[in-house]
Amino acid sequence: MFDWLVVGAGFAGSVLAERLASVRGDRVLVIDRRDHIAGNAFDHLDEAGVLIHRYGPHIFHTNSEAVFAHLSRFTEWRPYEHRVLAEVTSPTTGKTVQVPMPINLDTINRLYGLSLTEAEVEGWLAARAEPVAEIRSSEDVVVSKVGRELYELFFRGYTRKQWALDPSELDKSVTARVPTRTNRDDRYFTDRFQAMPRDGYTAMFRRMLDHPRITVRTGMDFAEARHRFAFRNLVWTGPVDEYFGFRFGKLPYRSLHFRHETLGREWALPTGTVNHPAEATPFTRVSEYKWITGQSHPKTSVTYEYPSAEGDPYYPIPRPENAALYKRYEALADATPGTWFVGRLATYRYYNMDQVVGQALTTFERIQKSMPAAANDDARLKRAAAGD
Ligand code: FAD
Ligand code: UDP
Repeated sequence: MFDWLVVGAGFAGSVLAERLASVRGDRVLVIDRRDHIAGNAFDHLDEAGVLIHRYGPHIFHTNSEAVFAHLSRFTEWRPYEHRVLAEVTSPTTGKTVQVPMPINLDTINRLYGLSLTEAEVEGWLAARAEPVAEIRSSEDVVVSKVGRELYELFFRGYTRKQWALDPSELDKSVTARVPTRTNRDDRYFTDRFQAMPRDGYTAMFRRMLDHPRITVRTGMDFAEARHRFAFRNLVWTGPVDEYFGFRFGKLPYRSLHFRHETLGREWALPTGTVNHPAEATPFTRVSEYKWITGQSHPKTSVTYEYPSAEGDPYYPIPRPENAALYKRYEALADATPGTWFVGRLATYRYYNMDQVVGQALTTFERIQKSMPAAANDDARLKRAAAGD
């Protein structure tokens, strides 16, 4: 008999499993239908010995000291600030250029052959920005800041490919993830903490799950586990609509196909990621892991991301009708005692890793409040207090 069955060994499931075992002394079974732990953050050495991320590049960044401190119990860090170039056709010269993304002062100066200052570029952008009465969509967010030409160059094609929707059909929160800057800061993120787990994500997860009261079974689906094992409570980190047998219909998720390639030379790209916003190019971006991981190796490995309707569910699709459908599933989830829904797929939120960790830690506090320690049997509590 397990106290908990945790479905999914990604951030949501693994962070919670560790808390339940270490703090409460509960016995936890963690399963994943994939043949590995770490969920979408899984990394491993490829055939050439280069550390790659199987599900596309994962760059850790957060403003939350609590989240960073929590993960720091399981890993050392390597400071890393991600930089991205976008490959576009210059509207003035017609030539293909690679310029900083998010759009910043250098992006505009290089693209248009200008030498504007920070103060001047604000006016330049203001003259191009289109007034939008109420910013609702992913198109509104961008055209209201940089105007239509830059929107079409950097956002429209990329977004149509990534989501199979026009930006005008997507919630503003999607393109709002990427800011516009008038200074020369060319980092993709500006969070306070930006670092990669020194030995990789999988090593960090292994340490998190390495606990005498945690059992891990990979290659096992919930459908099998629920019959094979007895458990009192459930943590669900898979798609919420799947848990309820798609009762209200399928929640749309967007998928990707990853093309991993190893090259017989030391470096491939000028930076960690090059975005390809042109609609005619079938992939959205290419990333080179050695920039991100800091590994030294005579060869190098890159991943191309091809958006796809088929495949594993990677992205919830933020738009009003999907949010309304999710609300119906959320109401069911709230009315399912003893089952906790956590993570990007289970709460249908376009969350980064740190937000999922934060959500898992908050869920743990809610569990502690609603199932207070007194409700646990004494022996388990004593074991937890003794730290064994
Ligand atoms: P997951 O990692 O998806 O884990 C859920 C697990 O549940 C999966 O392993 C799945 O196999 C398992 N599962 C589902 N259903 C079942 C079932 N029925 N039975 C058994 N197991 C089941 N975030 C960042 O912060 N920075 C980045 O740079 C970044 N880059 C990303 C790039 C890509 C291409 C993608 C797709 C995501 C990226 N993310 C990034 C987001 C990050 O991957 C997620 O925030 C995080 O992995 C979510 O963790 P999770 O535990 O909620 O879900
Ligand atoms: N985006 C874009 N052009 C870019 C980069 C991003 O249009 O060069 C849009 C696109 O809609 C994308 C969203 O902004 O899906 C969020 O980008 P982010 O890099 O955060 O995507 P993720 O890393 O989550 O795939």
